[in-house]
This record gives sequence, structure tokens and C-alpha cells, in this order.
Amino acid sequence: MINTIGKSAKGHPIKLYSYGQANAPQVLLYGLPDPGEAVGASGLLGLLRALKDPHHLIHQMNVRWNFIPCLNIDDQPNDGLTLELVQKEQHQEVDWMIEQPRPETSALLNLNDLLNPVFTFPMHDEFHCEEVLPCYFPVSHELPDHICQEISTIIKHYGLDISPDIADAKMGQGFLDMFAINDIHKSTFAQFAKKGLVFICEVPRKEESHHKNLMATQLACAFLLINAIQLES
Ligand SMILES: [Zn+2]
Repeated sequence: MINTIGKSAKGHPIKLYSYGQANAPQVLLYGLPDPGEAVGASGLLGLLRALKDPHHLIHQMNVRWNFIPCLNIDDQPNDGLTLELVQKEQHQEVDWMIEQPRPETSALLNLNDLLNPVFTFPMHDEFHCEEVLPCYFPVSHELPDHICQEISTIIKHYGLDISPDIADAKMGQGFLDMFAINDIHKSTFAQFAKKGLVFICEVPRKEESHHKNLMATQLACAFLLINAIQLES
């Protein structure tokens, strides 16, 4: 099912794709939150293909998938026709504007109230920016040891590095308690965290790593966490 959940300032529809039983736990993933952040959106295309295949193992996950392939259409370079390195500006960060919401921000906040997602994955990445930052993971709730270790294993499996500069005292290297970030209350993340787990997997531009590894890394982390939430409930 595809619904339009808002319109950008330039009049582009913001589309939400939903699959699965309506009464299953809701999960929300959204791509291209900032300019040029195409890793998540590309992964969502893979997710869409999997969901369209009736024999795919993904159907064993009892959740209702909700995803927005492109949240911030207005700020994509060259109207989204090409992919280029861009340095985003503050007024383009729709996730951080709940005090002066852009239409994209309002669409997310309304969706949060409507769905009450048990898991939200804002698909930010560091691929678009000109600096090379190793992987790091802002997260809304403390994750158990074995999950943190499995996430580290996924990152290494795909040939990526974990940030040596970011470390949570309990969760370890690469993990970052979202609520330690300045002004987090101005973000949509703080609102999503009231409903469920929020996890971000920032992946870098790394010339020697195939782009597919970046998408696979984000999706593998999402599947791991969704399965963990389901086992808990
Ligand atoms: Zn971003």
C-alpha cells in the first residue's frame, strides 16, 4: 500500500510504502533524510524487491514494514537526478527541526503518532559528505552486549571500520547514546524514542568497499534489531 503522507515545500509528495499485516508491530525506515544520503534509499529498493517476492524469507518476520524511500526530496542534488558529494546545511536537516518544522518533519511526527513504531531507522549516512568517518551508531536505548557484538561483527564482515573516537561506556566502540547529543529534544529521534527503539547506522564513503556493502550493513543491522525486539515481546 502506498500513501502520501505530506507534501514538500516544492510540492513533491512524500510517499509511505506499507507491507504486512496491519495489526503486526510497526517498523519505520526512511531514506534520504538529508541531501545526498542515498545509501538507505538504495537499501530500501532491495527491501522492496524482497517484499514483492512471495517466497522470500523476509516474510517470516512478523512486522508491518513502513518505509519512505525519499523523505527530503527538495534538497537532493540536481533535483535527485544525480548523486554527488554535498555538504548539508542546517536548514536542510529535517530531522532536527521540530521547533520550526518543515513539511517533512511534520509528516514524520504525524506518522510517529499514527504508527507507534516499535523500531525506527532513520537512514542517515556519511557517504555523502567530504570527510571520511568510520561507522558509528546513535541509539535511543541501551542495547544488550550480545547485540552490540553482533553489530560489530556485521560491520567487520562487510569490510568497514568502527569509529575509534565514539564509544559508549556500556555499549562500546561506535555506539552513541542519542540523548547525550546536544539539543536532541529538537529532533524527531527523541519523539520516535517515546514509542520504541531508534537506531542509526552511519556508514562512510570508503573507496575500496563496494556500495552494496554499505546497504547490506544498514539492512543487516535493521533485521538484527527487529528480530531482537520480536524475541523480547
Ligand atoms: Zn544525515
